[in-house]
Amino acid sequence: MSSRDSRHGPSGVPRDELEDARRAQLIEVTIDSLAEVGFVGTTLAEIAGRAGVSPGLVAHYFREKDGLLEAAFRTLARVVAVRMRERFALARTPRARVQALIDANLGPENFDRRTGNAWLAFWGQVLHFEGLKRVQTAYQRRMLSNLRSDLRSLIPGEDARSLAAMIAAMIDGVWLRAALSEWQEADSESARALLTAFVDGRLRELARSSGGDGAPTDADRGSQPTSERTIRVINPATGEELAVLAVDGPAQVNAAVERARLAQKEWRALTGAERGRVLQRAARLLRERNDALAELETRNTGKPIQETRAVDVISGAECLEYFAGLAAGLAGEHVDLGPKAFGYTRREPLGVVAGIGAWNYPLQIACWKSAPALACGNAMIFKPAELTPLTAIELAGIYREAGLPEGVFQVVQGFAATGRLLTRHPGIRKISLTGEVGTGKAVMAEAAATLKQVTLELGGKSPLIVFEDAKIDNAVAGALLGNFYSAGEVCSNGTRVFVHRSIHAAFVERLRERTAGLRVGDPLDPLTQVGALISAEHMEKVLGFMARGRAQGARLVIGGARVTSGELARGSFVAPTVFDYCHDDMDIVRREIFGPVMSVLEFTDEDEVIARANATEFGLAAGVFTHDVTRAHRVIAQLQAGTCWINHYNVTPIELPFGGVKMSGLGRENGRAAIEHYTQLKSVYVALSDVESPY
Ligand code: NDP
Repeated sequence: MSSRDSRHGPSGVPRDELEDARRAQLIEVTIDSLAEVGFVGTTLAEIAGRAGVSPGLVAHYFREKDGLLEAAFRTLARVVAVRMRERFALARTPRARVQALIDANLGPENFDRRTGNAWLAFWGQVLHFEGLKRVQTAYQRRMLSNLRSDLRSLIPGEDARSLAAMIAAMIDGVWLRAALSEWQEADSESARALLTAFVDGRLRELARSSGGDGAPTDADRGSQPTSERTIRVINPATGEELAVLAVDGPAQVNAAVERARLAQKEWRALTGAERGRVLQRAARLLRERNDALAELETRNTGKPIQETRAVDVISGAECLEYFAGLAAGLAGEHVDLGPKAFGYTRREPLGVVAGIGAWNYPLQIACWKSAPALACGNAMIFKPAELTPLTAIELAGIYREAGLPEGVFQVVQGFAATGRLLTRHPGIRKISLTGEVGTGKAVMAEAAATLKQVTLELGGKSPLIVFEDAKIDNAVAGALLGNFYSAGEVCSNGTRVFVHRSIHAAFVERLRERTAGLRVGDPLDPLTQVGALISAEHMEKVLGFMARGRAQGARLVIGGARVTSGELARGSFVAPTVFDYCHDDMDIVRREIFGPVMSVLEFTDEDEVIARANATEFGLAAGVFTHDVTRAHRVIAQLQAGTCWINHYNVTPIELPFGGVKMSGLGRENGRAAIEHYTQLKSVYVALSDVESPY
């Protein structure tokens, strides 16, 4: 008797495992064959030839071709189902689950020639083979029932059924079109954008037809028994649920505005110095609780604890201290009008104002908006982004402890619909938004109906220019800070790095070395330098850009993929990525990615680089690295950007106003300039003599 057990193959691997592996290999080969030579060409002999085995062995495993085809079709459907489950686990709302389904079907890891051609080959045969029909029916049923059940939380049942059918048909249609165009019209991001726009459009139309004028639907408002009434707050590094919060609807927003209106009367009546003292106490509490707040911020955003401990809370505290100092000095001016009169201006608060925050710096944004608002005597209602609602609640508690009267700073929670309740509310006099350009436009349009003031801190695609005389290590450090801090989720990032041709090679080499040393990991580990992206959906967007960078011909220097080692597989981690030899018209160079993706571009001449740097709709920030002082100021003066750095990048001291030009925004935060945006001037004429009148 042989020393080997007969349950083992010749390599000692258990026979069952060997057989499973062989089956899996034959299935993969079948998919390859279907993708390349179609259904008719995929014979048992063809499959056997590709797998390097005899046709008899194929028949041994699957009996006949139909069995093998059914198994292959099942495998394709299973891959989509697994992707769907992964994405569902991270989706927090019914709308996000619908998106997860779209993304699982059309995501870049799936939407490719091989998979598409194989599906096409199967579709052609589904009507004639019972086994294939069973797989197709089960796949379609699962898709429709998932869609219907999520859509029913958003719209009435009949509408949910028909919209689910439309979405399923469009997904199939997009695949079919891609395959029939021989993969010329096969761009995962565009395909998903098409479906997303369609779903959003239909939901809006349905909301309008039920609500009359495109006003938020009941589901938006949270007045229906749907899961849109709550926000599930998730740790993007682990998928763990951190909290479930109730969404605020019209009743809560109206009540908040009324409370704020009453509280603001009391608050504005205090002297500036008294208001300043409250802000000072709140700043002290922020500093005392730095570590706990930083940890909460890290759990909610996925940003490394080494950043949140050093920047997020402290920047908030510094902002409160700065405006606490200015509060006592707020003043109008005296105007001499000759011996018979004088004038003066009063700098008065606006009243009740609202802040709407983005998810990348939740606590810092809440502080940057509330500190000047409160210093000037306003009351503020703040809505954090739904993904990151936790630290704003802590800030409200800190203000209360510091002695801020009840109602002067309130937090409302919710999705865009809650934001719209604020932008439309006649009792609110100003909106300060941090968000995307599209949101900025929507907020401004809606604020127009009640002539609210707006401050808009929006997106960017900022240039960072490195001249030939720059110190390369400094410039590389600036580029790293301007691209990989907070995993690239920073609005002012210098994502278009223009490097002078004469130092281009040396710069890129140094950049590669230093990027390779960056540590991606558990955000709570103090050694981690690059944490998780905010969500799985956002990660897909970032990965999609990386895929397009490659497809459009940029050279990948480093990174370019998701990081899934060990525990990181549970979260949304992406490797810091550098593309070289980029062109101005590539998607990665033109569009805001909001992830760790840097594009390096070469230039030769100062005028040329200024023109290219300005050739964008954005105008948030810009940086210049050079040792020629004259050139530094000459170039900065010509760059169309609201916030600029010379020989540094992304430092934002509270003393300096921050904000954008062009499509990157309106108004300024921080610095004395912010006072302008939270006050209004009253001009007063004071007569010192009798009234002279022609009547
Ligand atoms: P979004 O524009 O998606 O959202 C911003 C906030 O607006 C969220 O609270 C959101 O609610 C709310 N909102 C969305 N639609 C409306 C609406 N129609 N009316 C009222 N409120 C609405 O931005 P992100 O949160 O995705 O943040 C990333 C963007 O923010 C990037 O473009 C980035 O550049 C920009 N940003 C700009 C900064 C700057 O200072 N210039 C700083 C930081 C980020 P909800 O999340 O609940 O949907």
